[in-house]
Amino acid sequence: MSAKEVILSGMQPSGELHIGNLEGALRNWVRLQDQYEMYSCIVDWHALTGDYEHTELMKERVFQLAVDYMAAGLDPEKVAIFIQSDVKEHAELHLLFSMIITVPTLTRLPTYLEKKEDKGLDSYGFLGYPVLQAADICVYNADKVPVGKDQEKHIWLAADLAKRFNTLYGPTLKEPQALFTKIPTIPGLDGRKMSKSLDNHIAITHTEEETAARLKKMFTDPQKIRKGDPGRPEICPVYMLHQVYTPEAEKVIAPPCRSGELGCVDCKKMVSRNLNEALRPIREKRVVLENNKDYIWDVLRNGATRARTRAQAVMEKVRAAMKMDYYG
Ligand code: SF4
Repeated sequence: MSAKEVILSGMQPSGELHIGNLEGALRNWVRLQDQYEMYSCIVDWHALTGDYEHTELMKERVFQLAVDYMAAGLDPEKVAIFIQSDVKEHAELHLLFSMIITVPTLTRLPTYLEKKEDKGLDSYGFLGYPVLQAADICVYNADKVPVGKDQEKHIWLAADLAKRFNTLYGPTLKEPQALFTKIPTIPGLDGRKMSKSLDNHIAITHTEEETAARLKKMFTDPQKIRKGDPGRPEICPVYMLHQVYTPEAEKVIAPPCRSGELGCVDCKKMVSRNLNEALRPIREKRVVLENNKDYIWDVLRNGATRARTRAQAVMEKVRAAMKMDYYG
């Protein structure tokens, strides 16, 4: 048995991965993969909560996300990379958890209220989304989950469900904790949060030319109309990208922006160049991986075998604790 702590990470296969996903999550996972025993899931069941009508796209999206995981640097030798629906134990624990949580606890979650309004979602599966997320984590008895602040409440819920289970049936499940790391904020082209559905994103799969063309349209300080006007980098989304992709942006970008010496057109050209340079190795690796279809599916199959071994062991304990191990 590994002495390392266990972490669970996951993303939905919802289409093109963008630089917000890359810088906000994936690069962090890559940094953590040596330190922890990591299970990295492609959460296809979760993707159904918002897009249950287009399952014909799922296989390609799962494949592309696996390519993204590995192109960004997740190493299948170190990390079990797998598809959620390949490990049915997630669904079993989800069902058991759904018995010990109340509906008002779920309807009070801020993410439920927001998404219900935004996307008009009102399904049973959507309401139970955080319960399935709790099962995703607890089925590996994960110690930690690397998440952004907006997901913090869901980790509390997972810890709460594990605690409730332990109180009812005896100590069985670990209470997972959120693992916060300082991650950069990546704004969308319109200054809002980067999102594919808002079409304000830079995808990893965009070409260098597409990236430059999209960045040309990015919002800037509205008071800086032309070169010579003083700018306010602190409110400019382009400057936020410089802070991630341009070394010493506070010295090379902020002062000439403020003085007016640097115009927005040139400033965007610089950020395009630096961003494209940073993404180049990932984009190149992507092309190689994408052409090795059998290898990618093998990685996912093997990852599922590893994940299943751990999940089955945890579920045996869960069934025993509940006195539902009938043939044991
Ligand atoms: S010069 Fe750059 S940082 Fe300054 S407002 Fe224009 S785009 Fe933003």
